[in-house]
Amino acid sequence: MGPRGVVVIGAGQGGLDTAAALRGRGYRGRITLVGEEPTLPYQRPPLSKGFLTGDTAAADLELRPRAYFAAQDVELVSGTRATKIDRERRTVSLETGATLPYDSLVLATGARPRTLPVPGAASLAGVLTLRGLADAEGLRARLTGPPRRLVVIGAGFIGLELAATARKLGHGVTVVEAQSRALARALTPVMSARLVAEHTGAGVRVLLDREVTALWGDSAGRVEVVELDGAERIPADLVVVGIGVLPNTELAAVAQLQVGDGVIVDAYLRTDDPDVYALGDCARFPSPHAGRHVRLESVQNAADQAKCVAAGICGDRVPYTAVPWFWSEQYALRLQIAGLTAGHDETVVVGDPEGGRFSVFCFRDGRLTGVESVNRPADHGIARRLLASGTDLTADDVRRPGFDLKTVARTAAAAGAPTA
Ligand SMILES: Cc1cc2nc3c(=O)[nH]c(=O)nc-3n(C[C@H](O)[C@H](O)[C@H](O)COP(=O)(O)OP(=O)(O)OC[C@H]3O[C@@H](n4cnc5c(N)ncnc54)[C@H](O)[C@@H]3O)c2cc1C
Repeated sequence: MGPRGVVVIGAGQGGLDTAAALRGRGYRGRITLVGEEPTLPYQRPPLSKGFLTGDTAAADLELRPRAYFAAQDVELVSGTRATKIDRERRTVSLETGATLPYDSLVLATGARPRTLPVPGAASLAGVLTLRGLADAEGLRARLTGPPRRLVVIGAGFIGLELAATARKLGHGVTVVEAQSRALARALTPVMSARLVAEHTGAGVRVLLDREVTALWGDSAGRVEVVELDGAERIPADLVVVGIGVLPNTELAAVAQLQVGDGVIVDAYLRTDDPDVYALGDCARFPSPHAGRHVRLESVQNAADQAKCVAAGICGDRVPYTAVPWFWSEQYALRLQIAGLTAGHDETVVVGDPEGGRFSVFCFRDGRLTGVESVNRPADHGIARRLLASGTDLTADDVRRPGFDLKTVARTAAAAGAPTA
């Protein structure tokens, strides 16, 4: 432990968890958490769900109460942007003019929404994105008023969760997606179809394979029309763009660290400078589960990587191998994903998709790589343990009549397979 301590840039999920994990491990040096947002570190998942309906209050989002920071001697510098990293001097400059020296630096800068490159998107009022608390507050104020005609651009997790929430609140909702199915990068076709059916059943108009070509406004500069494929015009008084995110890598790039859709790190989450780590939404890391470098956007990924980085800083180097998992809530469907299902070449469905309780087992080259479950939490929990222990479950096993995942887990445990 050097005298300069640890500086963490980004006081979101991964940044806060890094500070907490360092103190949890008994790290006694200085810890400074620099966050651009003027709030205490908070959780984002409710921003597209309960926060918009009013079921979750802003105070319930806080990851730690204010008293935590003094009690744990974590210096929180919020409402301030880090503007420069000097790797030679090992310092970080803040926009306030302050300079923070470090022994270890952690980049936990997250990601920002992609913007829609069509006329009207940047200039019209009523065109929003959703990433932070301030965005969600603006959206909530608009969704708690009279019914609106909402157009959500992008059928990803945030777009679909928002569509479900807005429907619940009684708004007219259209979702426009450029790909031929929803969540094409993240989910199997059977799961995409099931989610779209749920939205359609709830009265959401889901338009797939359609390109937004322009947004048009009224004389006051407020959005009133979404134009599709240069032809069809959909009336709208609120548009939310949810077409993915870009990792915040600019600080790293200027500091001449290796970047490319994320800050590139090794198995220990170190950049090409061994004193600088990166984690969470902004980091691209070698995943043993994917067999390549990936960048993941989930609470689990940020939280588990924070523990790995804290261990590395404390001199206890362990590679990052955690099984990825994710969840989403839309209407009465609780979707949970264990492992990585992208790139599968075989799937087996267990349960009843129509009835809203089922799991999709995904295989690549004969190996189980991930399981998507809807309202089957036991499948999800067991799948995570099996994936962590390196299961040899095959698609034929899952297809066999009477297949029972609990029995598989018991057999694996009895055979002494390590569990997560
Ligand atoms: C609406 C919404 C719903 C979501 N729902 C789910 C869900 O259901 N399940 C799930 O697993 N995940 C969900 N996620 C994703 C999850 O929240 C993120 O993956 C997670 O927050 C990533 O943590 P992070 O620390 O990498 O980034 P963040 O939590 O985004 O934190 C990064 C922080 O760094 C700050 N920052 C950036 N640059 C600088 C700088 N130069 N100086 C100072 N500060 C800086 C940013 O302002 C931000 O506060 C959701 C995300 C959103 C937006």
